[in-house]
Amino acid sequence: MKPSRRHFILRTASLISACVPGANAFAETGSVSESDLTARLLSYRIDATSVDKAEHPKYVSGQVCANCRHYKGLAADRSGPCAIFLGEFVSANGWCSVYGKIER
Ligand code: SF4
Repeated sequence: MKPSRRHFILRTASLISACVPGANAFAETGSVSESDLTARLLSYRIDATSVDKAEHPKYVSGQVCANCRHYKGLAADRSGPCAIFLGEFVSANGWCSVYGKIER
C-alpha cells in the first residue's frame, strides 16, 4: 500500500518530536507553543477557533484536541498529552492538521 501524504507528515512530525531537543520530546512539563517546530509543521493552534479555514479546508468547527483520537487527556482537563506532541500537553480546545475524529 502506498503511504499517504498525511501518513508521511504524521511520521515526520513524530520523528522530529522524538529526535530534536527543544522541539518538545524531552520536555518534562509544559504546553506546546504555536511557535514550536512541530507545532508550526502541523499548524497547531491553541484555540481551534483561530484556525485559518482557507488554509485548512478540512477543518470543521467543533474539531478540537479533546475529541481527537490522538488526545490522551481526560474530558474535563483543559490540556493533556497528545500522541503526536510527545512529552508536552496540548490545549483541549486546540487543533492541528493531523486531527482525527474519535471513531465510536
Ligand atoms: S488535533 Fe489531535 S493530533 Fe493535533 S494536537 Fe490536538 S490532539 Fe494532538
